[in-house]
Amino acid sequence: MDRSIQELNNVKSFSTNCIHTKHIYSLLDLPKNDESYKRMNKHLENCTVCSKEFQKFQLKTAAAQVFIPKVLMDRDLRQSFEREVVELFKVMNLNDREILKRNVKKGFLFMDRMGIEFIQNLLSKTMFKAYFAAIVIFICLRLFL
Ligand SMILES: [Zn+2]
Repeated sequence: MDRSIQELNNVKSFSTNCIHTKHIYSLLDLPKNDESYKRMNKHLENCTVCSKEFQKFQLKTAAAQVFIPKVLMDRDLRQSFEREVVELFKVMNLNDREILKRNVKKGFLFMDRMGIEFIQNLLSKTMFKAYFAAIVIFICLRLFL
């Protein structure tokens, strides 16, 4: 009876399935001096199915730890996020255009005012005095040189 069980175990270790495979995951959580940890560890040494599975599991765990810090968005969240971003950009674009329009208007208004002020300055009394002085100097230079 005992021999037949051992044979059965041997057969199992060459098959692709082992009833202990699902327990190997507990190896990562159990303390190393735990009795079931020791038992599973021993089984891993003898069972290729479980040892292979455990190696795969360890690789997966390592890979998962690399990816854990990244926030994974599910599809719905991602889609709604993208929609919101598009909406945001639309609003920002509109605002940008409005601001640009307003600035262009302001620029024109500023130039208008400057132009009017410039012309007003040209026609002011001080400027007439300056023109007069310039004409006097011009005539004097013309006459005496
Ligand atoms: Zn096994």
